[in-house]
Amino acid sequence: VKYSHLTWPEVGGALSNWLVLPLGSIEQHGPHLPLCVDEVLAETLADEVAERVGGFVAPTFAYGARSLPNSGGGPRYPGTVHLSGEVLLKAYQEIISSFIRGGARRLLVLNGHWENEGLIFEAIDACRENGRLAESTVIALSWWAVVHERDMVEIFGSFPGWHAEHAGQAETALMLAYNDQLVHMDRAVDHHDSVPAGIYAHPSPEGWSGNDGVLARTTHATSEQGRLLRALVVDRLVALLRTTA
Ligand SMILES: [Zn+2]
Repeated sequence: VKYSHLTWPEVGGALSNWLVLPLGSIEQHGPHLPLCVDEVLAETLADEVAERVGGFVAPTFAYGARSLPNSGGGPRYPGTVHLSGEVLLKAYQEIISSFIRGGARRLLVLNGHWENEGLIFEAIDACRENGRLAESTVIALSWWAVVHERDMVEIFGSFPGWHAEHAGQAETALMLAYNDQLVHMDRAVDHHDSVPAGIYAHPSPEGWSGNDGVLARTTHATSEQGRLLRALVVDRLVALLRTTA
């Protein structure tokens, strides 16, 4: 299912199927989760979706956009390694157009990092304007786009908004379901104040970057909740690809 495990004679045939490109970040995720959360979640969800639709998974592009205080904790916490918007925009364009030039006909770009999203859409649309999407079908989304507020309330009991889910209950539960060895629940903390979405402020108010980089509640998260969320995301992504194909 891994694109990079193919030999060159196999590439042409493989690329008539869906190719899933996971995009992540290296970013602080509180005291209880590793820096690779966005990368791991994008890649593992991509693996499952590709397996279900008979597609392939491109190598994850782990480096992402700048972390902002009220959606990622921002520069207050060490760990984040980012590319500037102009470099990332260019990198996304090059990677996407290179896969399409190489024969990809159906491309799913699956994002795991909030701040990447606008740049991903911009990059794809720039490729479209330059004629570099050719005859390909391209779908791009962050994995949470297929999860509704009512789904989150059903699984977790409450929902603070996706910006505040950074290192929150959803990512904690998914990591517990996927790779609990990287999760330190004994160090998990909650943030009880609300963090506003879509407001930039300098200096950023203290509470906006959460409690130790956690923007909402996490300590109640379980692997069972993670399994429910993961199944829901994979089913909806598969359904999206089936209706698009
Ligand atoms: Zn994250």
